[in-house]
Amino acid sequence: MAEPRTMFEKIWQRHVVVDRDDGYTLLYIDRHLMHDGSAAAFARLKERDMKVRRPDRSFATPDHYILTSSHRPQDIADPQQRHLVEVIKENCDAHGVTVFAAGDPRQGIIHVVGPEQGLTQPGLLMVCGDSHTSTHGALGALAFGIGSSEVTHVMATQCLWQRKPKAMRINVEGRLGDGITGKDIILAIIGKIGAAGAVGHVMEYTGSAIRALSMEGRLTLCNMSIEAGGRAGMVAPDDTTFAYLKDKPYAPKGAMWDTAMAFWKGLPTDPGATFDHEVTLNGSDIAPMVTWGTSPEDALSVTGRVPDPASAADQTRRESMQRALDYMDLKPGTPVEQIPVDRVFIGSCTNSRIEDLRMAARIARGRKAQVPTWVVAGSGLIKQQAEAEGLDKVFREAGFEWREPGCSMCIGVNGDTGVPGQRIASTSNRNFVGRQGRGVRTHLVSPAMAAAAAVTGRFTDVRKMLG
Ligand code: SF4
Repeated sequence: MAEPRTMFEKIWQRHVVVDRDDGYTLLYIDRHLMHDGSAAAFARLKERDMKVRRPDRSFATPDHYILTSSHRPQDIADPQQRHLVEVIKENCDAHGVTVFAAGDPRQGIIHVVGPEQGLTQPGLLMVCGDSHTSTHGALGALAFGIGSSEVTHVMATQCLWQRKPKAMRINVEGRLGDGITGKDIILAIIGKIGAAGAVGHVMEYTGSAIRALSMEGRLTLCNMSIEAGGRAGMVAPDDTTFAYLKDKPYAPKGAMWDTAMAFWKGLPTDPGATFDHEVTLNGSDIAPMVTWGTSPEDALSVTGRVPDPASAADQTRRESMQRALDYMDLKPGTPVEQIPVDRVFIGSCTNSRIEDLRMAARIARGRKAQVPTWVVAGSGLIKQQAEAEGLDKVFREAGFEWREPGCSMCIGVNGDTGVPGQRIASTSNRNFVGRQGRGVRTHLVSPAMAAAAAVTGRFTDVRKMLG
């Protein structure tokens, strides 16, 4: 009888071209996704007079540098940023790569567009020159971020050298409470295992709480695997996956769908397969989460208090906690619900999908923003759908600003930043020093918690606001 294998192992083995004696493996890449940071890789390809080897397996969209006030590249004031948004279309057209360019309703954040278009499918090996490529594992793909020179390598060869990661299982059992989302689960996981807790591992999320998550919730979960140090995050494909994929533009059709389904159903981890590391959490214990520091591991329940560095296990941690508190201008012992916010951002590849917007609108409905609040849909199609459902109207009536799709304040390279000293409740994935602008203080939360902060002006347990 064949040895039981993890889902990761099954996908890895299917993509091996050759194993080298030094521990490196050449892998075949099924999908290469690109964003507007790809210009340098295209330039290197041109220097060597090479073409993209598999343009039919490469897809691109501008997201980092595109404006969220207007989608016209000519409105971008910075010439270098304007060039990056424009040149991605020129490069893709020259190489025959499909690009969802500025002005195309399919444009959006690459990690939102891939699943939305059905480019992301179970069993595929996918890469992108962006850390949060782990997002695509939510559909049972093996997906990870790569560096700029690796992007050129994939463009030229459709292959990539990698060392094989280890496998880690994160099991979340139990029933989540109302208002608890994929974002709260992943912040609870990172809070438990730490920002380096999954280094060198591919994380597979299992358990009843994960199975009960929508595809949007799973995408959020896998998106932040990289924030625990994981190489990738994955959820086994199931009926939720199949229902999500069915009829997506690039999903298999007709007899190909049946063939794909037969393959996909064989992907989940076999009973008895072993993982190098296992972690278990109780889903019913998870509360709405808020980060207090400058790492996603600095996460605690909204019902908690800012921790005291004196309670840290060692001097190194004590000092890093103190540095984080100084930057965040917080005092140990402060109840989280007493921390005021200056601004709110709902968006990013972590939390800008339709379910995220519906949840935020549920809280915003009939209430008024106390602080400036931006809502940035993850793609043009999500923006259209939200408008068809009247969510934009709910946001506008609450005083929220409804903007064009893009990465926006997640990283702010397009100019969407806060001002020094501002405290922002953000649905993005990184609260590093200066991530949303110099001196800006970022607290990571779910869309529901972000909307609750917007209408109360401070962190508020969203469970009190649900009807
Ligand atoms: S939304 Fe943020 S994390 Fe996601 S791709 Fe854009 S900059 Fe990166």
